[in-house]
Amino acid sequence: MASAGGIQIPNRLPLLLTHEGVLLPGSTVRFSVDSPRNMQLVGQRLLKGTSLKSTIIGVIPNTRDPEQDSDPLPPLHQIGTAGIAVQVVGSNWPKPHYTLLITGLCRFRVSSLLTERPFVLAEVEQLDKLEQYTTSTADGATAGDGELGELSQRFYQAAVQLLGMLDMSVPVVAKFRRLLDSLPRETLPDVVASMIRTSNKEKLQVLDAVSLEERFRKALPMLSRQIEGLKLLQKSRKMSPDTDKRVLSVRKGGVFPGRQFNLDEDDEGEDGDDMAALERKIQGASMPEAALRVCLKELKRLKKMPQSMPEYALTRNYLELMVELPWSKSTKDCLDIRAARTLLDNDHYAMDKLKRRVLEYLAVRQLKTSLKGPILCFVGPPGVGKTSVGRSIARTLGREFHRIALGGVCDQSDIRGHRRTYVGSMPGRIINGLKTVGVNNPVFLLDEVDKLGKSLQGDPAAALLEVLDPEQNHSFTDHYLNVAFDLSQVLFIATANTTATIPPALLDRMEVLQVPGYTQEEKLEIAHRHLIPNQLEQHGLTPQQLLLPQDSTQDVISRYTREAGVRSLERKIGAICRAVAVKVAEGHRVKEATPSGQEQQQEDKAAPPEMPIVIDHVALKDILGPPLFEMEVSERLTLPGVALGLAWTPLGGEIMFVEASRMEGEGQLTLTGQLGDVMKESAHLAISWLRANARTYQLTNLVGGPDPMEGTDIHLHFPAGAVTKDGPSAGVTMVTCLASLFSGRLVRSDVAMTGEITLRGLVLPVGGIKDKVLAAHRAGVKRVVLPKRNEKDLEELPANVQADLDFVMAGNLDDVLNASFDGGFPAKASTRSHPQISSKL
Ligand code: ADP
Repeated sequence: MASAGGIQIPNRLPLLLTHEGVLLPGSTVRFSVDSPRNMQLVGQRLLKGTSLKSTIIGVIPNTRDPEQDSDPLPPLHQIGTAGIAVQVVGSNWPKPHYTLLITGLCRFRVSSLLTERPFVLAEVEQLDKLEQYTTSTADGATAGDGELGELSQRFYQAAVQLLGMLDMSVPVVAKFRRLLDSLPRETLPDVVASMIRTSNKEKLQVLDAVSLEERFRKALPMLSRQIEGLKLLQKSRKMSPDTDKRVLSVRKGGVFPGRQFNLDEDDEGEDGDDMAALERKIQGASMPEAALRVCLKELKRLKKMPQSMPEYALTRNYLELMVELPWSKSTKDCLDIRAARTLLDNDHYAMDKLKRRVLEYLAVRQLKTSLKGPILCFVGPPGVGKTSVGRSIARTLGREFHRIALGGVCDQSDIRGHRRTYVGSMPGRIINGLKTVGVNNPVFLLDEVDKLGKSLQGDPAAALLEVLDPEQNHSFTDHYLNVAFDLSQVLFIATANTTATIPPALLDRMEVLQVPGYTQEEKLEIAHRHLIPNQLEQHGLTPQQLLLPQDSTQDVISRYTREAGVRSLERKIGAICRAVAVKVAEGHRVKEATPSGQEQQQEDKAAPPEMPIVIDHVALKDILGPPLFEMEVSERLTLPGVALGLAWTPLGGEIMFVEASRMEGEGQLTLTGQLGDVMKESAHLAISWLRANARTYQLTNLVGGPDPMEGTDIHLHFPAGAVTKDGPSAGVTMVTCLASLFSGRLVRSDVAMTGEITLRGLVLPVGGIKDKVLAAHRAGVKRVVLPKRNEKDLEELPANVQADLDFVMAGNLDDVLNASFDGGFPAKASTRSHPQISSKL
């Protein structure tokens, strides 16, 4: 509370006219202003001023509604309070207005008005002689002698009595108590009148009481009335617990006019039981010492709050959450490696490498019984079973499983919670997950860690680091909880589509296990062993009702889906099941609804006569529509200037056509298809190499000239134009495509290729070989051209893919071209490249 000691106010003051409330010296009140004059005052005086004096304004209460502000100025109240504006907040909603926080300093009287526009400026006379307030009660002196002294003493005692009836643990009350002894007694009427429950009219009376004696006289009855009211309340409380609890209320420092804080004693009675129950729950939640202390403190605060206060619900929710959290509840691990192996094998077909590593991980855990170690991170395209392996791990351990989707999370409070000071604050996903599973040692699957965002609200990756770090996570502190929770028993597993976008610090904590896409054959097995039985069960069907023969499944895999994983395959099988379920249900309905006499006849008509319903090619087309993907490779390679490349995306490998055309021009190269810088450079490299070797390979321009670019413009296009592409691995494809264009020869329709090129015509290794080769295999390609130094990657390929495909390992572009054209792509014998000559030496 501002003490006005020693302040001399200017004798010209801008006046704030308000009908909202009465500011008394020594209190702080919030005013909302929106009338033109007051807005001008704020804009031109408060916001523009630079000195302390410019923040002092006069507040004149009880003026008429300032809506009719255009009128000539209404007669003004003659006495006001000079105050210092300590805060100005502007807002445009619902209409432009400012909210001012003003601390009253001293009374003044308006001597004469100087101007009325843009705001009211007046000549004023300071009324409270501030220097007389310098004596403090602490020195034992009183405000005056005689009657005034006696009055002030009575007033002081009444105030002490009032405080004695209130609960000292409420901060406002404690503050009031402190103030009472440290403030000069002369200021007490103003301070007390602004704090106890008084009407504006009463406050105005206190304001108008210029003489100190009169002020004490006016304020004393208000104080006594408050004391009487409180006594009455306490008496009636004893008789009935439900009496109106709001007889006494004290404004918090007078800061919020109209918002009153109930300072009554504890709410006993019906709430009492409730609170006692909550307390029992808190005591029974077996939480650590520190958390228990916080809970009991909050509970004590809660007991003192009226239920209508917004903070009540907040605190209550907090306590309920604290009680629900599994502080020391855990499941018992039942780890048997042999059983785990069987379970993993039963749940998942193929993915041997991954399963082996998971078993190793589990075995180490069994021997060491500690969780410290790397966090497993499964990286691979969607639908390859990353989540489902995570779930199996939880099952083998006998633990609860919870998935936390991190895709798009860009606010660290998503992980670590909001502080409880916000309205609508909540705990983060980790704590929420623990509450959901109800034990403190679940398996948490952090899904899509590669899609974490970053924003002004902090970096969620940094928060995750704390969660995952075994050195720190035993005392993870969620902002909402504000006490540490031990996460060291939680088993974290992460999944991602690519490691490229995982924040490096996070990646450093994890052991990456690649989960590549599946071959057609693997998909077929997965479909028949897992997906079809699962989908049948989910749709309430049995194998006796629906039969999906192998070649139909094969058809679904190759003509209705094109993906690395099996997610859309699963969806298509689901669609087939739904269609069959309708047929089966129709049959049932007829059977049930038919009166027994006609049963035979009706059933013959409507029920599907034979079970199981076999899904052949025709049925497939009926249910799923025309095939979405055809084996288009051969169709598209019918013109010179088209070649087939292999690309890697986070969604798995893909085949990619490269098209080129030429027309008369000035040797310009146009590239389309949203290419990145690296890819554009590869295109220039390809052209340069071909021009340099044009004679060797007999490449010509449009009119047969020896420089393929002379008088010619080239256009290179990478279809799926909406997808951004980058990377060096399309180099060999561009060379092949352009060589085809410049020579007029067709590229073999069953060849796909990948590899980076250099200006000297060498072919350099690239990444993602397994995914790329699988994509080529899916698309029905027969020959795959790969960089020689990628030979070691072939080992990872399934045997049947290795057997189906013809791999050409190219060391330079000559090898690539020879492999890509029927009958080779001969260079002139005389200039044949060096390796062959040197090999003879
Ligand atoms: P991801 O998390 O990799 O995107 P999911 O784990 O959600 O993929 O897998 C999608 C579906 O495919 C699940 O129903 C899963 O059971 C099934 N699935 C994937 N791979 C296999 C597999 N090797 N064996 C059996 N089912 C699999």
